[in-house]
Amino acid sequence: FRARAESCLTRTTVVWNDIGGLFRVKQLLMETVVIAGLKRPSSVKPWKGVLLFGPPGTGKTLLASAAAGSLGASFYDVKSESILSKYFGESSKLISALYNSAKEKEPSIVFFDEFDSLTKSRSESTSEASAKLLSGILTNMDGLSDKKNDRFVLTLAATNTPWDLDKAVLSRFPRRIYVSLPDPPAIKEIIKIHASDPGTERVNLDLIAEMSALNHYSGRDIQSLCQQAIWNMVHEKNPELFRLAELPFEELNRRTLKVRPLEND
Ligand code: ATP
Repeated sequence: FRARAESCLTRTTVVWNDIGGLFRVKQLLMETVVIAGLKRPSSVKPWKGVLLFGPPGTGKTLLASAAAGSLGASFYDVKSESILSKYFGESSKLISALYNSAKEKEPSIVFFDEFDSLTKSRSESTSEASAKLLSGILTNMDGLSDKKNDRFVLTLAATNTPWDLDKAVLSRFPRRIYVSLPDPPAIKEIIKIHASDPGTERVNLDLIAEMSALNHYSGRDIQSLCQQAIWNMVHEKNPELFRLAELPFEELNRRTLKVRPLEND
């Protein structure tokens, strides 16, 4: 179980500056992380669990990665749905192994993506398995509040549908943070993160930001938009690109794609 639990362990290099907008959300998470790490009077209890909720693609996973990346913490990235289906019946053992590993490798952040999938059960047997899994998570989180076990292990959970979580679960996550769709100033920041500055100089950023906000674009949508725009430029500037498809891979691998001339346009 230990090896399986540690297959969720990743070293993330994401930092707070990789996230556009979400100023207040970043501030709240930074405070949470700092308080968990500082020596503090016994009256100040760190949050053990934080729930990030909001529409898909708004940066919840990115925020969890940045919380871990900025601290150099061990990051356990757990896809709730997949542990439920893959380790059906054994998931509570897996959760104990995961938290034991996280305690040893502190500071640690345990991140449960798609957290709602644990309460949205399709059949009686999966509902029993997810109830066990959830209670395993909550028990381990409670164990961490115990004074003797005061380790830096922060649980972050993300969901798009917080209304699917029951009261018992919500009560373990008193710190709940709404991660919203980006407004125009945040959209401009996200574009600058995903497209290079020389590229963005050529476009009307204000107009794109306004249009994207009107269309309720998420950070993920903006990232795809930038990727598509970059590809369009590459395509436009390298019309002969498809001819290279005849080259053997080793030869292809020796060549460099020239995108730089675009900057001088
Ligand atoms: P889901 O709810 O679907 O799991 P999510 O809220 O966890 O989505 P992420 O996986 O964090 O969203 O974001 C997807 C991708 O979108 C990121 O890898 C990143 O490229 C981009 N992105 C989203 N929000 C931002 C942001 N605020 N700043 C920069 N990039 C962002």
